[in-house]
Parts: sequence; structure tokens; C-alpha cells
Amino acid sequence: MVILGSTGSIGVNAQKVARQFNVTIEALACGSNITLLNKQIKECNPKFVAIADERYLDMLQPQDSVVFVGEEGICKMLEACESTKILNAVVGYAGLSFSLKTIQLKKQLILANKESLVIAGHLIKQNVMQYAKLMESNMCKDSNTTNPHLNNNVSTIKMQRNFMLEHIFPIDSEHFSLWSLLAILDTKERLDAIYYKGFKNLYITASGGALRDFSLDKISHATLNDVLKHPTWNMGQKITIDSATLVNKLYEILEAYWLFDTKNIHAFIERSSLVHAFIESSNNALHASISHADMCLPIAYGIDRFQAQHTFCITPLSVNDFAKINFQEIDIKRYPLWAYKDLLLENPHLGIALNSSNELVQMYFLQEKVPFYALAEINMQVLDKMKDIKSPNTLESILAYRQEAIALSNFFIKSLKQR
Ligand code: NDP
Ligand code: MG
Repeated sequence: MVILGSTGSIGVNAQKVARQFNVTIEALACGSNITLLNKQIKECNPKFVAIADERYLDMLQPQDSVVFVGEEGICKMLEACESTKILNAVVGYAGLSFSLKTIQLKKQLILANKESLVIAGHLIKQNVMQYAKLMESNMCKDSNTTNPHLNNNVSTIKMQRNFMLEHIFPIDSEHFSLWSLLAILDTKERLDAIYYKGFKNLYITASGGALRDFSLDKISHATLNDVLKHPTWNMGQKITIDSATLVNKLYEILEAYWLFDTKNIHAFIERSSLVHAFIESSNNALHASISHADMCLPIAYGIDRFQAQHTFCITPLSVNDFAKINFQEIDIKRYPLWAYKDLLLENPHLGIALNSSNELVQMYFLQEKVPFYALAEINMQVLDKMKDIKSPNTLESILAYRQEAIALSNFFIKSLKQR
């Protein structure tokens, strides 16, 4: 397999699981943490390595690995790889081109980089559908039937196919949980044959982030240090900040929209982060996915479903854990951006505006140049201004909207009023 973003929180866990499963790592890529990458190269001896930032090339100790550099270099490395599984754990907008490349190469995308779907869900879906149609027509030619899967047992209980989930395996914990609640493998557990059950509503949970117990008047000026103290998960900086503003949950609503093809998606705060998602089936029964907050579980299923099902364990739950489960509605006063959830679901292409603005203002927040309240305020101003944009269906139009959103955020940051 290939691990992109190998030096990050997900990338490091992915290597741990791959080692446990005896899976060969063909290639590793990261941004600029060369010290850790050098250590990883020694440990897993990949055929290929890549770094995004060429300024650090001198520090790289590639051993026997072939080296690629820059965004284009990482795409070329993907072309050279034989692996059929690419785990994309690059953070932010930078991950998009690698997701697109993986789909273009007709390989399975194990997706942590939710931003790919937030920014370009429509384009990704278009590409996946093109590939699915091609596969379908080839299979029909081969087997001389309309759809070979319709001949097996599963089809007799009327399951639908979901082409997105056949090509993209989500390892975001909520989406992995939804997948595990909805997906049914065909009798041979073939990777390319996932069927899914019907449902009425999908629910995902949020921890509430680091400021969930701050008084409302203190939130506006919370420091970077405050925001990085996540109460339940140990993750990279960006997603930790996005958890405090609930941008992460807005991203995940869009991610669920593209993966599960529905607008019936809702979210609640669940303070213990034990319940990750639940579904309401057509008979009104709820089915929940409950486990300790440990990203190794979804990663394990992404890497090798068979071993994950039969040999992999995370810490078991106890009765005392169940007592900690606690649901709350999301309070718009504490999380003002949440008021935009319905607008985003009605216009999922607005994810490009939210992501571009959010990454820019977050960069300023990390440099301690803007206060915490700017994160919500600037994003809301950009969404208000761009709410009528049309859905872009080419990469060029997505990039044009990105530039527009960045220009607007820059303007709004300069005119930010003191509170
Ligand atoms: P981290 O910040 O810990 O790691 C990000 C990784 O991306 C690092 O390896 C970094 O390299 C690499 N990177 C950054 N820029 C580039 C670039 N231009 N080209 C190539 N690689 C680059 O993030 P996380 O592991 O927390 O998150 C990764 C993704 O997974 C995000 O999209 C996040 O939303 C998602 N996710 C994370 C979860 C978690 O538990 N952490 C849970 C669910 C989803 P370097 O450090 O060397 O610069
Ligand atoms: Mg998540």
C-alpha cells in the first residue's frame, strides 16, 4: 500500500496497523517533517518516497528508495506504484490532487483527507461514476449478463450498490461507522461489491471540541493553546482547531452527503466520543456504532478488511463507559457556523468557499494574528457573499472559486472589527 501524509497523526497510526497486518508499504510521502520520514524509511524500506517541500531535500536519507518531489512528483510516484490501495492522510486542500489522481488511476482510495470531498465532491463523484460505468460494461461483456452481482444471494434481498463506497473507503470515524452500519459485503467479501441497506436518517456525533465548557464570553478570545486541548481525541492541529469551531462537523456533513448520497444527515454533541454515528432505519429503529475513540479501527478496515474483522482489537468498552454517553443539541450561540449547515447541504459545492476561507483564516490564527472569533466570523462572511455561486464541475472552476474565496477572506480579515 501507499501512505500519503505518513508523518501525521493518521499516517503514523496507519504504519502501526500495516506492520501489525504484515502489509508491505510501497511508498511514503509527507510535507516537510524529514526527521520523522527518515526514521520511517529505515523502518519500512519503501520502494518510493516523496516530499512536498523541496527545500528539505538535502536532509532526506532515502536509503534505497526512489525519491519524488513536490505535488507533481507525488502524483508521478502514484503512477509508478503497483499498490492498489492509496491511503490519503495529507491534511487540507493539499490532499485534493492526490485523491483525484488515485481515482484517475482506478485504485482504491482510503480516505482520511475529507477536504477532497468538501472541495470537489461533485468532480470526484463524476470521476468515480465514469470508472464505475466502464467497469460495469466490461463486466457485462465478460459475463454476458447485465450485472453479475444481481445473480448472487445478496441481490435477492434487494440491496443497492453504492459506487462511491466501492472506490472510496472512508476512515473518518463517523463515516467509517456509517459504512459499518450500512454496508453489506457480498458473499465472497469482494472489495468491489458493496451493497448498502436503506435508511431514513443518518446521524453523526461531535465531541464539541476544546472550548465546549468555556463560558460564552470567554470563547471569543480563546488562545491557540486553549483550542489545541481536545477533550477526547488526539489528532493533528488543523482538525483539532476545526473541532472547536465545528467546521470539522460541517465538513463531515458534506463528506457524508457525497459518500452516502443523502441530505438526511444530522449531528449531535456526544461528549464521551464513544458513539460515533447512528442510523435510523425505515422501521424507526436506531442502530449505533459505539467504540473507544481510536482511529486505528477505521484504518485497520481500510488496510485489510479481513484481518480487521478477524484479528484486530481495540480497548473493550465497559458498563461504566456506557454511563458516560451523553447527547446534546448543537447550540448556535456557542457554534455560530452551525447555522450554515442547511445552506451547505442544499448547496454542497459551497464546501469550496468554506474550505478556502477556513484554511486561510486558520493560518492567521496559528500565527496568533487573529482572535478565535475570526474563524467563525470570516467563514460566515465568505459563505454569505458566495452563497449563490453555481456548482463547479471542472477543476479549473473549482480553483477559480478557491481564489475568489481566498481574496474575500483576506479582505474580511483586514476589516475585522475588534470585540
Ligand atoms: P496531521 O497534521 O497530523 O498530518 C498531516 C500530514 O500531511 C503530515 O504527514 C504532513 O507532512 C502532510 N502534508 C502536509 N502538507 C502536505 C503536502 N503539501 N503534500 C504532502 N503531504 C503534506 O493531520 P492528521 O493526520 O490529523 O489529518 C490528516 C487528514 O485526516 C486530515 O484531512 C484530517 O481532517 C483527516 N482526519 C484526521 C483524523 C485524526 O484523528 N487525526 C480523524 C479523521 C480525519 P509534514 O508533517 O511532514 O509536513
Ligand atoms: Mg471525524
